[in-house]
Amino acid sequence: MKFFSTNNRTKKVSLKEAVLNGLASDNGLYMPEEIPQLPKEFITDLPNKSFQEIGFEVAKAFMGDDIPEERLKKIVEHTISFEAPLVEIEPTIFSLELFHGPTLAFKDFGARFMSQVLGYFAESQKQEIIILAATSGDTGSAVANGFLRVKGTKVVVLYPSGKVSEIQEKQFTTLGQNIIALEVKGTFDDCQRLVKEAFLNEELKQQFFLTSANSINIARLIPQTFYYFYAWSRLKNREEVVFSVPSGNFGNLTAGLIAKKMGLPIKHFIASTNANDIVPNYLETKKFEPRPSLSTVSNAMDVGNPSNFARMLDLYNHTFELLSNDITGFRFTDDETKSAMREVFKNSNYILDPHGAVGYLGLKKYLTDHPKSTGVFLETAHPAKFLEAVNETLGQSISVPEKLQVFLSKEKISIAVSKDFSEFKKLLERIL
Ligand SMILES: *Cc1c(COP(=O)(O)O)cnc(C)c1O
Repeated sequence: MKFFSTNNRTKKVSLKEAVLNGLASDNGLYMPEEIPQLPKEFITDLPNKSFQEIGFEVAKAFMGDDIPEERLKKIVEHTISFEAPLVEIEPTIFSLELFHGPTLAFKDFGARFMSQVLGYFAESQKQEIIILAATSGDTGSAVANGFLRVKGTKVVVLYPSGKVSEIQEKQFTTLGQNIIALEVKGTFDDCQRLVKEAFLNEELKQQFFLTSANSINIARLIPQTFYYFYAWSRLKNREEVVFSVPSGNFGNLTAGLIAKKMGLPIKHFIASTNANDIVPNYLETKKFEPRPSLSTVSNAMDVGNPSNFARMLDLYNHTFELLSNDITGFRFTDDETKSAMREVFKNSNYILDPHGAVGYLGLKKYLTDHPKSTGVFLETAHPAKFLEAVNETLGQSISVPEKLQVFLSKEKISIAVSKDFSEFKKLLERIL
């Protein structure tokens, strides 16, 4: 299968190129030339298949021509080496817990899959591959941990100074080896811009083999479709299934739209955001108006210019009516988010993290008007990843899993850098 850029549908590249380039040279995002249709029997048989079997079949539909089956099977098994339980917290409201991976956030799925796919392509590549990753928190830890010790690769994580939690920061600043952390004096949008500029900079491209690992990389997106199929198949009532996706860059939601287009009968999607409500605004006004991001309690979703929006438009042929038919947008304040965390803890004895809480709120609101639907919200991070916010909100100390404790006890090592591109470029030339 070939992949095109959202800025030019006629110029197609191989999977290897799409994965290694990350971003197309015209600044567009790669998309598969067609969304493969899975047979009806595959869908009806989903409840009898394991999560890994489902993941393999879905991955094969996109990558079967380019990666040998046995290797792809191994890549999927490595990616899905942990559970994604569907937990009923109220009648017709389910939490899809995507945080049981090594860094306790859903980004482990994309990062682990991508690191293995890249590792496969790196084998036929002489130059070391440099992965540039801008992070608002969880990408950095998932990518850094996914690539740790992968041969032929080096990871540079850019993160906004003071805008990620201590636990998040420790997960990518304490690894060493082939992982470098850059602490940027700016916002997440600044980090994202520096990465984008680096990819377009001829001098850097001459010296280094650069690639991205943000949700813009197609190898991050594809594995995120797996759990929509899996979650849908594990519900008892599959008549009118809706997914609420707490969103920032909209990679997770885009993956759900792709799953639907492949034939999974999802009835509707809810784009749930914090105050960074660019997409809910678009769904109300037909106007896409990016603006600087605002800081919120769900900081991994503080994105002012959601990059996957270009893919969403492409999936719906740039037709507002089609897109808005499948997606409803809601935004929630920090106060609403914290109240939801308290309510759900009190009524269901279930601890939401601030991101999952936004997803829960969106679902709850939608179900009020659609009582026949069954709802799943994606719980994208373990609550202990946002320890201070959760403890403060619930008024008690929740327990921290062993996996996180280990990171906390290690020493942070990072390099400070301004948000100025020329300074960033000089630094790269010095340290790589
Ligand atoms: C990244 C992230 C999100 C947002 O996901 P997108 O695919 O960027 O929309 C939501 N919750 C958590 C915990 C995250 O780390």
